[in-house]
Order: sequence, then structure tokens, then C-alpha cells
Amino acid sequence: MKLLLHTCCAPCAISCVKSIKSEGIEPVLFWYNPNIHPYIEYKARFDSLSKFANNENLKLITQNEYGLKSFLNDFHPNTKNRCENCYRMRLEKTVSIAAREGFSTFSTTLLISPYQDHKIIKQIGEETGAKYDLQFFYTDFRPLFREGQSSARTSGFYMQKYCGCIFSEEERYIGEHK
Ligand code: SF4
Repeated sequence: MKLLLHTCCAPCAISCVKSIKSEGIEPVLFWYNPNIHPYIEYKARFDSLSKFANNENLKLITQNEYGLKSFLNDFHPNTKNRCENCYRMRLEKTVSIAAREGFSTFSTTLLISPYQDHKIIKQIGEETGAKYDLQFFYTDFRPLFREGQSSARTSGFYMQKYCGCIFSEEERYIGEHK
């Protein structure tokens, strides 16, 4: 089975990859995250994922688009449903690349995070897969989240402090103190 795995960062990729490999599948990683801002943060997460792919000897396909301007154009000022649209943007791109490159299935490391809307991610994965006639490889990776984070810390991977967009950065550093 050829699986294209959308990867948001190294800490989330660690346990997803371990779980997928335990099923005898060697995933190909895919980087497409124009939702991560500012640029220094984007680069830190990308460099960390590249290091992980290298350590694991995994192929990494990159669609390296730093997307602050396009993200703001598309999502501001209506930021209410931004996460759903953000998942869709990334999964649409993933499935389109998977279809073009002859993969039989696709998935995302977003499925490991207890902080994301898991149900919506699954729904969007299935919807976008149906559009391209590709199976969405669904697994609830959430029970592996803490283990993956701890392993990432031990291995010295960059650990982000907020989800990705500048709105989530504001919520992390100002919102929590309100
Ligand atoms: S909070 Fe995270 S998932 Fe939601 S829009 Fe921002 S980067 Fe995307």
C-alpha cells in the first residue's frame, strides 16, 4: 500500500509513523502547511521535520509555501470557521498530490492531536478522498500523542507552543490570560 502522510510537524509525526510502520506500511511524508506563521516558526518546524525524515530514512515530499499573505486573504476577517477551512486546504492538497503521484491512500498527522477537531478532520479526509477516489487512511492516533511528544523532546526536536496561524499564536499568549 502506498500511503502519503500529510505531516504538520516532527513531534506529531513520530508516533503516527511508528503506528503506520507497525502495520507494515512505509509512509511517504508530505509537507504542506501554509498555515504556520511567522516565517521563523515555519522554518523551525520544517527543518525539524526534515531532520526526522532523514533520521528515519523516509521520503519527504515538500510543497514549500510560506503562506501568511494567502492565509490572511482567504481566512480574514471571517476567522470563525478557520480551522475547518485550514484542515480542508491541507487535505485537499495532500489528496491531489497523492492522486497525481499514484498513491493508493493518504492520511494526516493531525489525527494525533487531542487539540484539533478530530471528527471534522476525519469527515474532511473522507470527503476529499471521495472526490479523488482515494481511500482516507483513518486511524485514531490520539492515544499515542503523549508518548510521541515525550519521544520528540528526548530526541531534541523543535517543540512548538501553538497550533500554527498567527491567530492561534495570539490565543496562546494573550487569550489564555484573559
Ligand atoms: S488554529 Fe491551527 S488548525 Fe486552526 S486555523 Fe490556525 S493553524 Fe489552522
